[in-house]
Amino acid sequence: MIAPSLSQNEIDLMRDETPGVNRCIHFNNAGTGLAATPVLDAVKHHLDLEAKIGGYEAAAAAQSETNAFYTSIAALIGSTPNEIAFIENATRAWDMAFYGIDFREGDRVITGRAEYVSNYVALLQMKKRKGIEIDLIEDDETGQIDLKALEAAITPKTRLIALTHIPTFSGLINPAEDVGQIAARHKLLYLLDACQSAGQIPLNIREIGCHMLSGTGRKYLRGPRGTGFLYVRDDVLDQVEPPFVDLQATEWLDGSTYRLVPHAQRFENWERYVAGQVGLGVATSYAIGFGMDRIGARICALGAQLRSELSGVPGITLHDKGAQKGGIVTFAVEGATPAATKARLADHQINVSVSQASSARIDLPLRGLDAVVRASLHAFNTESELELMVKLLAD
Ligand SMILES: *Cc1c(COP(=O)(O)O)cnc(C)c1O
Repeated sequence: MIAPSLSQNEIDLMRDETPGVNRCIHFNNAGTGLAATPVLDAVKHHLDLEAKIGGYEAAAAAQSETNAFYTSIAALIGSTPNEIAFIENATRAWDMAFYGIDFREGDRVITGRAEYVSNYVALLQMKKRKGIEIDLIEDDETGQIDLKALEAAITPKTRLIALTHIPTFSGLINPAEDVGQIAARHKLLYLLDACQSAGQIPLNIREIGCHMLSGTGRKYLRGPRGTGFLYVRDDVLDQVEPPFVDLQATEWLDGSTYRLVPHAQRFENWERYVAGQVGLGVATSYAIGFGMDRIGARICALGAQLRSELSGVPGITLHDKGAQKGGIVTFAVEGATPAATKARLADHQINVSVSQASSARIDLPLRGLDAVVRASLHAFNTESELELMVKLLAD
C-alpha cells in the first residue's frame, strides 16, 4: 500500500462525523463499522419520510437516492451500475451467484482456507446435493493462498474458483489479482467474497478479474446492517441463473413465459430495506469522498502499528499471517481466554470481538487455535486508542 494516508484534518473530520467515537473505542469494524453522521441522517430521513407520507410514496420520492446506491458501489469497485444488485446481506449475495451456477456431478470448485463459514457450508451442501468436489488449497509459507498449488489443482472438471479476499478471522489479504490471472488463463468462473475488503482497501474488479463479487454494508463500509451487494459481470449472465426469481428479477410476458430482466438486477428481489439501500449508497460515497486508497493506507498502517506494539508485550501471541496484511489484528493473551480478554477490554469501553473455531473450521483448528481475539481497526481509530488498549493488555 503506497498511497498516502489520510491527513490529520481528514481523520479529525471523520471522527467529528462519527458520534460513537465519544462513547467507545471501537475495534470491531470487521463486525460492524461505526456509522457516520451523513449515513445516519440519510437513513433516519428516509424512515421519517416513510412514516409521514407512506412507504411506497417515500420510495418514489427517494428514486435518485436509491439509484445513487448503484453508481456508488460501481464507483467503489470499478464496474458499471448495471452490474450491481442490492441484496440484503453479503451471504445471500454470494449465494445468489453460487447457487446460480448449474453444477453437475463431478464438477470441481477451488477454494482456500480463508473461506467464510457460510460459503463453505454452501459448498458442502452442493457437494451433498449435486456431487461436486471441493479442492481446498493450502496456504503458502507466507500464509496466503498458495498460487502454485491453486493452478496445479485445476482440472477440466473445475467450474469455479471461490476466494475470500480478507477472512473474517485474520489480518491476511489474499492475492485476489493473482488468482484472477489464473482464472483468466484457464477461463474459469471466479467468485470473490469481498465482504471484509470492501471499505477496508481499494477494490477494482478489472484489476482483480473476478466475474462475481459479494460485499456487505455493515462492516468496513460503515453502512446500515441488513444491506449488501452483488456484482455480476454482464458477460457471465448466461452462466449464472438466479436461483430464485420474482417480479423484480423478471418480466412476466404471458401465462406461461417470463423473461429475466437484463443485467445484475435479476439477482435482486423486490421488497427491501429502502432506507438501508439509501444509507449504503451514502456510506459508500462517503468513503470514496476520502479516497479508498487513502483510507486503505491508513487502516493498513494502523494494523501494522498495533501488531508491532503487541509484539513487544510479553505473553501476547499474534496470529495474523499473509504476505500482505490489513486492519484486522488477531492475537491471544497468555493465561486469559479470548472471551475473558474481550470482557476485560469491554470494561474500558473498548470493543473487540472473538473469532471462534466454529466459524473457521478449516483454518483456526489447523493452526492449533480454538479462538482468537480480533481487533479490527478503521481509519477513524487513533494511535492513542491503540496505545491505550496495548497498555491495558500489558498490565
Ligand atoms: C461477515 C462476512 C460475510 C457475511 O456477511 P453478511 O453481510 O453478514 O452476510 C461473508 N464473508 C466474509 C469474509 C465475512 O467476514
